[in-house]
Amino acid sequence: MVMRHLERHRTARVSWLRAAVLGANDGIVSTASLLVGVAAAETSHTALLAAGIAAVVAGAMSMAAGEYVSVHSQVDAEKADLDRERRELETDDVGERRELMGIYIGRGLTPDLARQVSDQLMAHDALGAHARDELGITERSTARPLQAAAASAASFAIGALLPLLVAALAPMSMVLVAVPAAALVFLALLGGVAARAGGARVLVAAARVTFWGALAMAVTAGVGALFGTVTA
Ligand SMILES: [Zn+2]
Repeated sequence: MVMRHLERHRTARVSWLRAAVLGANDGIVSTASLLVGVAAAETSHTALLAAGIAAVVAGAMSMAAGEYVSVHSQVDAEKADLDRERRELETDDVGERRELMGIYIGRGLTPDLARQVSDQLMAHDALGAHARDELGITERSTARPLQAAAASAASFAIGALLPLLVAALAPMSMVLVAVPAAALVFLALLGGVAARAGGARVLVAAARVTFWGALAMAVTAGVGALFGTVTA
């Protein structure tokens, strides 16, 4: 019981961290890319910052909406699965026992032992046993769609404000250098912190995040420069 408790907390922390890192990473890359693209098209500093602020708000709203829908549909799907399983347990006890036994035989137990295991687990908590071993739901979902939406919007906004702040403070002539440089540093730090907390290799993770950020900014800078040349 103690082991299971610890395990659950660690997993919960990792998935929370993953969502926060993803949001911040998204905020840094998309906002920095947008700023670089707009700056490359040779606009005014005011127009650049207006575009940046719009990008932060739009991105945070979009993250919130996406996360809400995704978490909500996952919760709905699990609930529907559990409801169906509960009905089956009420109406088809023999079939459900055979089903669970079949699963344990498939995992390598002898038919005798599989019968004992499924009988005892079903006597203890029939729905729990089917949820875990048939549906793969290890615990009743505790995900809260609204909370997940708020957290992912907030982490996106925090990430997005970093390059926007650099764009606001740097003189216009320096934006094309300062924003990508700062964004790459933020990305490397974020990748490193995430890897450290998750127990992965720090340098590899930092390099991976930085590479994708650099690629995104290079592509939008190219598009922005092209657009600036065409419309100039
Ligand atoms: Zn079942």
